[in-house]
Amino acid sequence: MSTVIPIRAETSAQTAGCTDVVPLVERGQREVFCGLTGIIWMHRKIQDAFFLVVGSRTCAHLIQSAAGVMIFAEPRFGTAIIDERDLAGLADVHEELDRVVGQLLARRPDIRLLFLVGSCPSEVIKLDLSRAAERQNQIHHPKVRVLNYSGSGIETTFTQGEDACLAAMVPGLPASADTTPALMVVGTLADVVEDQMRSLLERMGLAVSFFPPRNSQAMPVVGPNTRFLLAQPFLADTARALQSRGAQHLPAPFPLGVEGTTTWLQAAATEFGVAPEVFEQATAAPRLRAEKALAVQRQMMQGQRIFFFPDSQLEIPLARFVHRELGMELVEVGTPYLHRQHMAEELALIPAGTRISEGQDVDLQLDRCIADAPDLVVCGLGLANPLEAQGITTKWAIELVFTPIQGYEQAADLAGLFSRPLKRRMKLAA
Ligand code: SF4
Repeated sequence: MSTVIPIRAETSAQTAGCTDVVPLVERGQREVFCGLTGIIWMHRKIQDAFFLVVGSRTCAHLIQSAAGVMIFAEPRFGTAIIDERDLAGLADVHEELDRVVGQLLARRPDIRLLFLVGSCPSEVIKLDLSRAAERQNQIHHPKVRVLNYSGSGIETTFTQGEDACLAAMVPGLPASADTTPALMVVGTLADVVEDQMRSLLERMGLAVSFFPPRNSQAMPVVGPNTRFLLAQPFLADTARALQSRGAQHLPAPFPLGVEGTTTWLQAAATEFGVAPEVFEQATAAPRLRAEKALAVQRQMMQGQRIFFFPDSQLEIPLARFVHRELGMELVEVGTPYLHRQHMAEELALIPAGTRISEGQDVDLQLDRCIADAPDLVVCGLGLANPLEAQGITTKWAIELVFTPIQGYEQAADLAGLFSRPLKRRMKLAA
């Protein structure tokens, strides 16, 4: 079978790439969203869940403006606002919260899983949401299960909201009574991507469960027979929680681009003893389609220089994709946090000598970026406009989290997210 995309021939076995990289570590001012942002994609995924932020008006504005408010359907997120009386200790916050939860559940019988989501204000006043969730469970369980996690901006970055949410669910997952190894994919994927992944794995003869599920009544079982693949690179706490239930992580690059998707699927195939010809048969057609689509994008992207600011923890897998499949040159790859174990397969595929930075000191990083004058910068919303004003083309990092980008069928769309700003800049310059 011909390969259209000239994916570089070396593998992690032949080159250590950035495996032993010493990142430039910065611990200064950061420009990222808080963990509440995860509610935007999580509430779409678990369709009978409700996310009740216990926070301030600022928290309410963030969620409402980022997620948009549906006018034909009742939203599945809201904010219990901590006001001045609560902050001054004049009201019993636990009593108030119980009242709000009671009203919400009486009005919305469709809710089967309720998350009490902590915020900066709830942490500042030391509101114990785990105690509140316990109390609520005594009243509403089994009809509604109440869990809590923190989405506060004190965490490293906004994708940790999903990590905290999933980790909170793990202790409640049913125990597996089986001893036969079973595959689980961990991390929120758009439904369309999940369906594609399930279909590919089923064509190899593999049954798979997804966590989180689309419905809280269909939680996957977990136990020592569970082998899990991470679909997202920001799930360190969730992975740890699953491992504490006996599950085993299958190390793999993340399913971004043709190479990432193939090696990710291959990790499952190898673990479950899928024959090479069965793997080839299951993956050949979508792989070839994706390779052809990427070949078109590569013509434009080859040699363009890209700089990643730290934002979502997707940066290293994305850098591997744009470098190896689109031929882009990596100027700096910033990540909010470098999880060496989960990133080992990715780091091995990043060319040795790449400047990798962990954490942020935003002024210093902006100085480096401007001095480097890259062709494209991937950054948070707050940095995009100032950089555009300097004549630097930008891509909003958060779009890469909101858009379905995993898997073969989305590989060209993923490339398009990088090529579109460059095309726009070229048109403006013409
Ligand atoms: S949780 Fe903190 S950072 Fe996030 S919106 Fe609320 S106050 Fe702001």
